[in-house]
Amino acid sequence: MIIANGSVALPRSDAPARADLRIIDGRIVEIGSNLRAGDGEQVVDAGGLLVLPGAVDPHVHFDTPGFESRESFFRGSAEAARGGVTTVIDMPCTSLPPVTDAAALDAKLAVVSGQALVDYGFYGGVRGGSAGSELEDGMASLAPRVLGFKCYLLSGMDTFPRVNHEELGRAIAQAAALGRPLLLHAEDADYCAAARIRVEATRTARGGGKPTWDDYVDSRPASAERIACAVASELAAERGCSSTLHVVHVGVAAAASALARSGATCETCAHYLAFTREDFAVHGAALKTAPPVKGGAEREKLWALLADGTIPFVTSDHAPSTREEKRSGSVWTDYGGIPGTGTLLPYLLSEGWLAGRLTLTRFLEATSGAAAARFGLDDRKGSIEVGKDADLVLVDPGAKTVIHGDRLYSKGRDTPFEGMELRGAVRSTWVRGRMVYDAGRDAMPTEASPVPGIVAEAGWGRFLTSLRDNSPMDYL
Ligand SMILES: [Zn+2]
Repeated sequence: MIIANGSVALPRSDAPARADLRIIDGRIVEIGSNLRAGDGEQVVDAGGLLVLPGAVDPHVHFDTPGFESRESFFRGSAEAARGGVTTVIDMPCTSLPPVTDAAALDAKLAVVSGQALVDYGFYGGVRGGSAGSELEDGMASLAPRVLGFKCYLLSGMDTFPRVNHEELGRAIAQAAALGRPLLLHAEDADYCAAARIRVEATRTARGGGKPTWDDYVDSRPASAERIACAVASELAAERGCSSTLHVVHVGVAAAASALARSGATCETCAHYLAFTREDFAVHGAALKTAPPVKGGAEREKLWALLADGTIPFVTSDHAPSTREEKRSGSVWTDYGGIPGTGTLLPYLLSEGWLAGRLTLTRFLEATSGAAAARFGLDDRKGSIEVGKDADLVLVDPGAKTVIHGDRLYSKGRDTPFEGMELRGAVRSTWVRGRMVYDAGRDAMPTEASPVPGIVAEAGWGRFLTSLRDNSPMDYL
């Protein structure tokens, strides 16, 4: 197959270049101009379109198995494809059983493999409170088939308790020994608990009343993120494995800078770039995430750190819920999490590169290259280069995208991006040379047809393991 006449976003370039891509067996085998089609070779005309590498979203909660009322791997990966994401990495904590040992991973893979529309990898989970060497043994049993390990310093899940500082140190050391990053949800639990008590006391002193979104934001302050990141950096440095630490969904610029100085990495999410705490007045629970978005100054600083590479990449932290869970009636109990994988690339394309906040090079790194490299997938994923998988997004740069929750393929429909108008529109998404999403067939999703633009069968997505694997397992 040849994808011809597109404006192709090649890595480390200032502007897209007019080029043709030849694809054989799902891989890019040639990049050139005026490639001649062989006998029977299909030619796709990408004239007038941008050809971008498929986005890598290394932070999704597709909730399968166990919490399919919130999301399924089928619907989540369909939403990813709709938004130009061709690789996802799924978190271990929001499925049952949590992925903390090899048997749990087997159980998850058995269910997920028939549902996935885009390529996918998993993280292993590290829970607090495990006895003896359970923590280290569980991690070792998972290492060949996971792209990293995830733990929490503050957890809202009964099935996945947080680690204490001693356990965090051990988890970092073991992840380093196994050659995988250790991903951390970094908010200090004690600090947040005290902040919550203070918030409640202040409200009572003012005569009570319903808790507000300001109360929620104030209960999870920026200091709690900075403290947790400082502790984690210290624990990693003490063990000589600073580069093993990766802090997820950082919304505080000072924390991101400190992590980079220590040799650790971090990610931010599109919602921290797009919104501030003032936006709760408009969006309410649709904007509730953990950690919450902070003030406007923070947002601008995060953009600057993303532009200069201090924050290497952006993720969605896709974590939808049912409408009932999302709108429980209290800021404390409304579900914390938003459907984000389908809005990630369109948002960064429009407000990052096309708006001039990011160079093309940084845009490509932020949406695909840097995450692929961090999680050991860059032999196959993350850029348009000969030898890599033909994971592509064809985008009309002159068209507009207006985000509407009821058009999402995710089961979650409450999005803070509701009504946002963006420059550029995804026309099709390709995974290993196969079109998975076709905007030409997209329509308003219905119960009978929840993913109308999906043109590949469930199960097309392939399970990914890390190239940084001492004993690669040919698992599938
Ligand atoms: Zn998450």
